Amino acid sequence: GKGRYYEFKKTITTCPYCGVGCQLELRTKNNKIIQVGSVYNENSPNPHGESCVKGRFGYDFVNHPDRLTDPLIKRNGHFEKVSWEEALDYVAEKLLNIRGKYGSDSIGGLSSAKCTNEENYIMQKFMRAVIGTNSVDHCARLCHASTVVGLGMAFGSGAMTNSISEIEGSDVIFVIGSNPTENHPVIGSKIKKAKKNGTHLIVADPRKIELSEIADISLHHKPGTDVALINGIMNVIVNEGLLDKKFIEERTEGFESYIKVIEGYTPSKVSQITGVPADKIIEAAKMFGLAEKAAIYFAMGITQHKYGTNNVLSLTNLALLTGNVGFESTGVNPLRGQNNVQGACDVGALSDVYPGYQKVSDPKIREKFENYWGVKLTDREGLTLTEMFEEAGKKIKALYIMGENPFLSDPDQDHVKKALESLDFLIVQDIFLTESAQFADVVLPAASFAEKEGTFTNTERRIQRVRKAVNSPGRAKADWEILTKLANKMGYEMKYNSPSEIMDEIAQVSKLYGGISYERLEKGGLQWPCPDVNHPGTKYLHKDGFSRGKGKFFPVEFAPPEKEADEKYNFTLMTGRMLYHFHTGTMTRRSYPIDKHEPDSYVEINIEDAKKLGIKDKDRVRITSPQGTVETYAKVGQRVQPGQLFMPFHYAESPANKLTNRVYDLKAKIPELKITPVKLEKVEKR
Ligand code: SF4
Repeated sequence: GKGRYYEFKKTITTCPYCGVGCQLELRTKNNKIIQVGSVYNENSPNPHGESCVKGRFGYDFVNHPDRLTDPLIKRNGHFEKVSWEEALDYVAEKLLNIRGKYGSDSIGGLSSAKCTNEENYIMQKFMRAVIGTNSVDHCARLCHASTVVGLGMAFGSGAMTNSISEIEGSDVIFVIGSNPTENHPVIGSKIKKAKKNGTHLIVADPRKIELSEIADISLHHKPGTDVALINGIMNVIVNEGLLDKKFIEERTEGFESYIKVIEGYTPSKVSQITGVPADKIIEAAKMFGLAEKAAIYFAMGITQHKYGTNNVLSLTNLALLTGNVGFESTGVNPLRGQNNVQGACDVGALSDVYPGYQKVSDPKIREKFENYWGVKLTDREGLTLTEMFEEAGKKIKALYIMGENPFLSDPDQDHVKKALESLDFLIVQDIFLTESAQFADVVLPAASFAEKEGTFTNTERRIQRVRKAVNSPGRAKADWEILTKLANKMGYEMKYNSPSEIMDEIAQVSKLYGGISYERLEKGGLQWPCPDVNHPGTKYLHKDGFSRGKGKFFPVEFAPPEKEADEKYNFTLMTGRMLYHFHTGTMTRRSYPIDKHEPDSYVEINIEDAKKLGIKDKDRVRITSPQGTVETYAKVGQRVQPGQLFMPFHYAESPANKLTNRVYDLKAKIPELKITPVKLEKVEKR
């Protein structure tokens, strides 16, 4: 960047991209970010100032000319700039009308993993206390809903059990369905460093990811066969006598019915299901079972399945069987995707829980929140994000979308389009006129991370400050300010002078955050549970007992994915992320230094398949599923196995989610984004 160090104003804040939550120094001049520098703080996930290409170079979007500067109302098919007064009056009147006509549950709200804890808290409070519905949810439904459910069932707490700093202390690290070198780069580097220093690494992934290349044991199982693979590993651990009998006896329950299921998963049977050679399964099981401290890391490859919750439960079973939870450098560690997806869940932006995972179905808890918020709350269950889109135009008449872009992120784009079009009223609050915002009746311009105060909670449960470095463009406002103004217009008083006061309220209503205050966060992040002001925060969970009492085994049988490749749709498409871009690309594709590295969408194709179909690298190809067709560029190589394809979902011009299925996990309602049967053709040049 241009300028001298001493000329810059320096603001320490939290990276707006992934769930690692790196601390960054924004160096600004004349209300513009010029550089991003390192921060050295031991109470952070990157104590040595580490960061990745997105954190370091992905900030052009803040100053981008596309930023929304004024509220917009759609009239005769065109957006017109209006004042805040007019926009908020209009929204308040419309929402009150719709509620009057169809009831509170006709309105749904999507909160945002991009927004701060304080804003997510206000969004769920707005939906519950002002609108009167529990239908508030966010994109955690698309990424780790099955984690929150599965870890909750087995351990009683739906979050990463251990801390990033503990990676280096593990004897064995088992990475399954997670590609950290691209999606959580600073964690990826720490795993690579641990491996160099002697930690053994087992990687299970259908694709050959970077970590597969350096792993001691690399397993490539067929997509959707995770339960079989993990059961197979446990079968060997049991037969070799590598289970932790003392731990199982003292700290767990449910072992008897669980072990009956495991007996059937012999290495040879599992090899047939997964495609992984039996001797590799045995080798991996021995390595994991013999380790004193073994840690499991996982992400979307485990969660985004019809049996996502079962996949997670298989991993909790593995940790319980070997006594690898409740100790340093062990645990079951979901890597959360977005900067604040952990926090958005923590503060209650989920349809079934108030802040702190307190169940809306519990009358005592409901009464407590009625007292806090001074209003009668509904006892009706809310709809999840995926259910809101299924019910759009039916039960759901209006949607309030804050900082999400479902048109690109949610499965089956044509379905999402129809859902958005069938609403009576759509409000989108964002920093850009996203693909989803085009459908809106009202667009409200929001502040970016660099323009507001607040906190994000990273994947290791660490609550960290977000600080204002520059002013918002035009009349854009922080999301919490917009929501509180609207609440006041709708007759429910919300009075906060600053986000710090909102955090004080969160601390009051949720024990997890009980000891958190902005004053304490000045020194660096604090990890929940942090129940009181003298509590130092919690590095790893379940030390002296599980949150639910005993850790619980669940017997989980393998079942094949709902839709598998057949004669017509003979490839299995997986979707995901890559290093340079983030989610629906609203920020990274408007950040020149990183977009120039990966300006085009692509699909990874195995070299054998490419040969058969006459496809060469960079050729234009067409992918078709029962849901739709997209064209993109071929990336021919050996990252995917024959019969598999992988496509990032960042590109609006080649939207991967035009192809994906609406198959959902029964318990967590997460879509099966990792498995869509498709066909592949070369696009012939005219
Ligand atoms: Fe940001 Fe994640 Fe990169 Fe850290 S690893 S700089 S949090 S994108």
